[in-house]
Amino acid sequence: MVESQNKRDLAHARTKINFDVTDMTNFLHGGEANVEQRRYIIDLIANDPVFNKDDWGWLNHTDAVKRGIAMSTRLAEIKMEHDLNDLDFATMMEAIDDTLPIVLHNGAFIPVITSQGTEEQIDKWIPPAEKFQIIGCYAQTELGHGSNLSQLETTATFVKETDEWEINSTSFTAAKWWIGGLGALCTHAVVQARIFIEGKDYGAHVFVVPLRSLDDHKPFPGIEIGDIGPKAYNGFNKMDNGFARFNKYRIPRENMLMRFSKVSREGVYTKPPHSKLAYGSMVLLRSVLIKQMALYLSRAVTVSTRYLTVRRQFNNPTSRNDSDLNPGLETQVINYPMVQNRLFPMIAQSYALFVAGSVMMEMYIGLMTGLSSGNIGALAEVHAMSSALKSYCTTFAVAGVEESRKLMGGHGFSYFTGIAHLFASTVPSNTYEGDNYVLTQQMARYLLKEVKTARTNPDQVTPYSKYLLLGLNKSAFSRSTCSVALPEDWLNPAIQLAAFEHRCARLAYELADAVEQGGFDAANPKTWSDHNIECYRISHAHAQYVMVLWFTQAVRDAKNPETDVERRAEPASIKVLERLSNLHALHTIQTNLADFVEDGYFSPAQCQSLRAQVKSIVASLADDAVGLVDAFDHPDFLLNSALGATDGDAYQRLWDKAQSEPLNRRQVCDGYEEYIRPLLKKHGEFKL
Ligand SMILES: Cc1cc2nc3c(=O)[nH]c(=O)nc-3n(C[C@H](O)[C@H](O)[C@H](O)COP(=O)(O)OP(=O)(O)OC[C@H]3O[C@@H](n4cnc5c(N)ncnc54)[C@H](O)[C@@H]3O)c2cc1C
Repeated sequence: MVESQNKRDLAHARTKINFDVTDMTNFLHGGEANVEQRRYIIDLIANDPVFNKDDWGWLNHTDAVKRGIAMSTRLAEIKMEHDLNDLDFATMMEAIDDTLPIVLHNGAFIPVITSQGTEEQIDKWIPPAEKFQIIGCYAQTELGHGSNLSQLETTATFVKETDEWEINSTSFTAAKWWIGGLGALCTHAVVQARIFIEGKDYGAHVFVVPLRSLDDHKPFPGIEIGDIGPKAYNGFNKMDNGFARFNKYRIPRENMLMRFSKVSREGVYTKPPHSKLAYGSMVLLRSVLIKQMALYLSRAVTVSTRYLTVRRQFNNPTSRNDSDLNPGLETQVINYPMVQNRLFPMIAQSYALFVAGSVMMEMYIGLMTGLSSGNIGALAEVHAMSSALKSYCTTFAVAGVEESRKLMGGHGFSYFTGIAHLFASTVPSNTYEGDNYVLTQQMARYLLKEVKTARTNPDQVTPYSKYLLLGLNKSAFSRSTCSVALPEDWLNPAIQLAAFEHRCARLAYELADAVEQGGFDAANPKTWSDHNIECYRISHAHAQYVMVLWFTQAVRDAKNPETDVERRAEPASIKVLERLSNLHALHTIQTNLADFVEDGYFSPAQCQSLRAQVKSIVASLADDAVGLVDAFDHPDFLLNSALGATDGDAYQRLWDKAQSEPLNRRQVCDGYEEYIRPLLKKHGEFKL
């Protein structure tokens, strides 16, 4: 059989790559051993028929949840059969590529108990949870409240006589809602409820609540449970997001997680040593999301880069000469500068996300190590950082997945790209684990405190907020300008970082001044809400700054012979990594140019040379684009994409997939006799 032009195009593109793809893969995934382990885990899933994805496009929510449960239980079995750890579990979820009812068991139920339970509570709940003798979810959100935790309406009232809590949904809107795993699968939940002791409200605390009988899975009397129904874009359709209403449901006092806050047998409440100690599990979930965004966005750009390499449209000359392939053919669309300038910055962002995901996870581990020895020094910063990065990274990753679809033109809208499903899975990340807009207030609040520290104790400003020191001398700061003189100056990481630091410092001081002034103007007092837009700006600006900083540092470390071998890369890889790092930094500046211009930090000429530099880096990546996405190492099973498969055989695969449409099993469709024929014949026979 003659090889398709599609396949030839992708194979040819691979001959032009200037670096060793395996070396880059090892860099991205933190070394060869991790790469091997990830492949091993993905194969485990790919070879198990319950995870077959062929009919997913046709499943309705009801059937999908049933499938989700079958997949969940098999996943649990595989975890136990192969004695896999949490990281492997996360890789299995990655390979499965859908959110399953069981996901929050390992993702939230176990971590919340482990981080907020006493040793006794951990000993009681974690061993059965690890053996899946109980399966748990995380129940915080209610029909009437989500973001505003302090106003949750579910109550836990201490009943001294019986040493129990009475969990109650005090109104219709107190029903727990959206809870993943609750609708059908879970036997237990960690539930957020406001505690009342002798009529006094002590705020929201966490309880382990048994939901369903371990004998027949029926909900216990006093709990009404169900599934909330199908979701947007058919996303999360295998997930049983559920509701629960508690009617004076009793649980033992010891079911309140008491590592930090405690309630004694006598009903005496002891508050935690630090009000934010319970934030550890939230930091974990948000940190994990950043790594997940790296995996999601990199998958989307893998599919689009491969497809755009084999897609040909018009016969226009482009600066990238592909006439060596076949002079008679139309132009590969990936050679159009417009396409490259939409696509390649997203490849760079994916690389930046890989780095940010690893650094954020290291920060989380450092935080937990500190907390376990009573050191809470890093808590506020890591919590703010994970909030800011969660908001920023999920925002641009979701936008990037959708942009990847649009890049692929008409075929991009087919389910068989794999991207529609990916988008539906990714899009709610902008909302769960904290709404992306509300969340930015965390970083803003943190920076406002840092501004005060900078003004009073400059030595004590934390490293990531050091840029605030630049703004202490207001008049010098307002006169400072960017030092770029020649176009190549833009490639200097110090100049890039200086620009981000200047912007962050300015936005932080502007916010601090506005908040302070708001308090003094009695005629026109400003509330905190009036500053929300500025909070969003500074939070995202700070996230962009640290992402640029971390990527720059990772590339610098990669060429340092003293760095651990897992984080090193060969010179050819480093050359392209430097381009990506530059593109990531400069494209981020270009996208937010107004922030760098409005106080005169950049001149008009600098803006123009910046744009030219971005274009030039983009063009320089043309030969490496396919290699850069191959390096993500996403196998075909994971991509589940007709257009983005490794061999590039896009048209053939799209054709084959369409043949699997159930409508095509019959020559004459259902409904012909009932609807079509009567219409065609309504005004008599028409003879052809
Ligand atoms: C797919 C999915 C899965 C979920 N899984 C779970 C789960 O397993 N367990 C669980 O407990 N929850 C879960 N949730 C709920 C989720 O965590 C909340 O929906 C989320 O935190 C947002 O809160 P909210 O719904 O109260 O939004 P709201 O706060 O009502 O937001 C509505 C709008 O108001 C804006 N807004 C709100 N407050 C402010 C403010 N102060 N300033 C400015 N703007 C504001 C928001 O930006 C948003 O635009 C899930 C949600 C989804 C979509």
